[in-house]
Amino acid sequence: TVGAVAVDVEGNIACATSTGGMLNQMAGRVGDTPCVGCGGYADNKVGAVSPTGHGEAIMKVTLSRLILFHMEQGKSAEEASDLALAYMRERVGGLGGVVVVDPQGNWAARFSSLQMAWAAARQGQLHYGLYTGEHFTEPL
Ligand code: ASP
Repeated sequence: TVGAVAVDVEGNIACATSTGGMLNQMAGRVGDTPCVGCGGYADNKVGAVSPTGHGEAIMKVTLSRLILFHMEQGKSAEEASDLALAYMRERVGGLGGVVVVDPQGNWAARFSSLQMAWAAARQGQLHYGLYTGEHFTEPL
């Protein structure tokens, strides 16, 4: 997956997700990536999400919209991501990772998979990393 979330100076929020799919997937398989609310979601009032991971699990829990639901209930991007990823693991046995941003530009890169590479940029400053077995969230 290459996924991105962004918020511009006017508060417009966007997400984008691309994927090569899963290894050895069936011909014709449609994963989570093109499904709204699963492989991404953006709402100027709440935030944006782009996920990676087990597409079938992501679709079963509508992972992106679930994270924004938790944010609507007052959770931070980080808390909402952890809640939804834990739910996906417990409820349907799927692993994944997400990048999330809220309208104020607070962001999180969280994952239940073994590792996830991420990058974050704000006002010309770039932060990036590849973390293994460890979550990462940092204000810029
Ligand atoms: N979520 C994708 C799929 O299941 C795989 C990925 O790129 O993470 O098709």
